[in-house]
Parts: sequence; C-alpha cells; structure tokens
Amino acid sequence: MDKREKAKKVLDILEREFPEAKTALDFKTPLELLIATILSAQATDKLVNKVTPELFKKYKSAEDYAEAPLEEIERIIGSVNFYRNKARNIKACTAKIAESHGGKVPDTLEELTALPGVGRKTANIVLGNAFGKNALAVDTHVKRVAQRLGLTDNDDPDRIEADLCKIIPPERWTKTTHLFIMHGRTTCKAASPKCETCPIKDYSVYYKTEYKGTKKR
Ligand code: SF4
Repeated sequence: MDKREKAKKVLDILEREFPEAKTALDFKTPLELLIATILSAQATDKLVNKVTPELFKKYKSAEDYAEAPLEEIERIIGSVNFYRNKARNIKACTAKIAESHGGKVPDTLEELTALPGVGRKTANIVLGNAFGKNALAVDTHVKRVAQRLGLTDNDDPDRIEADLCKIIPPERWTKTTHLFIMHGRTTCKAASPKCETCPIKDYSVYYKTEYKGTKKR
C-alpha cells in the first residue's frame, strides 16, 4: 500500500474515532489563538486555558499587549513553563503586529513566521484554526504518530510537515493535526502505546516491527 492510500485509510478511521476533534485551546479571535499557542509550547492546553481568561480580559488588542508592563504579563502567565521567555515573545510579536500589520494578526505563513517567536507550528495552528485555511501543524504527537505509521522517515518537524502534505489532500491538513494529536494523547502514547487496542494498528510500521518484536521476546 502506498503512503497516500495508507494516510487516507488511517484518517478515515481516526475521523470515525474522533468526530469532534479540534484544538483544545480556548480562543475567540486570531490574536487570542496566537497568544494561547505561544503559551502552549511544552505546556498542556489545560494549563494554558487556566491562565488565558485573565490575560484575554485584560488585553484585547495587539497594542494592549505591546504596551503592557512585562512583569504584569509574567505575573498572569507565571504558572506556565518558560513564562519569562513566553512573556517576552508575546510582547515582541504583538509589537510587530501593531507596527507592521495595523494591529491585525496576518493570515499568511510567510507573515506569521516573520513575527518574533512564531515558528511554523504556531503559524499553522493559527492559520488552520483561526483563519480556516488548510494548514498542517507538526507537534510532538503528530511527529510520533506519523513516524510510527511509517508516513515519514524524517525527524525534523518541517520535513515531516512537507512529507505529510505531499500524501494528504490539502482539505484534510488541519484535521490531520487534530486527529493525530488526539490519537497520540489517547492511544499512541510516547512511552507505552496501546497497540493491541489501536484502531489503526494494521497500518502501523511500529506495530509490525518494534511492538510485536517486543512481545515475542
Ligand atoms: S499500533 Fe501502536 S504505535 Fe502504531 S499507531 Fe497504533 S498505538 Fe501507535
């Protein structure tokens, strides 16, 4: 079976498993999602959703964040990993949005990734979820699931994104991110994947090689 066909079958099954799959981050505007996504690096969505209500209530526009005292943003997001760096990134990227984009979050990959502290993953999450564009974001779950299924041989997230975008039609890119994240969180866990009960094990290279090999020993 070629990789295109495998990806289609896997996504069809995961769509049935997770019909409601969507981002777990709470947001109402592109700016809110951008801020929440910056905060979510190496932090759980649950924790991010705990700190963003106060942040979003206090700061409504890019200018508000850019002009806010750094210490005040640090105080509000203090329970999130790397909050000092994240507070600086939030201020730097909102300042650029205020200066160069009239206060509106840009809606292209090129413009988003030109913002300080915004990489392809964050940009793709914003494009796919706040702007409704086709965008595949590769986080740790997407990377692991794609590798274990044998849909990519790469380790670098940008290359994995390119590999997946070649074999998955654009209209499924955004959903692929959500489905792989859900599958990675619930079944294809990093340390102990639940391979025996996995609904896509027939398509998994890891199951056929490493997992079954482990069980035989
Ligand atoms: S069979 Fe195991 S490794 Fe393969 S996708 Fe399912 S949970 Fe992940």
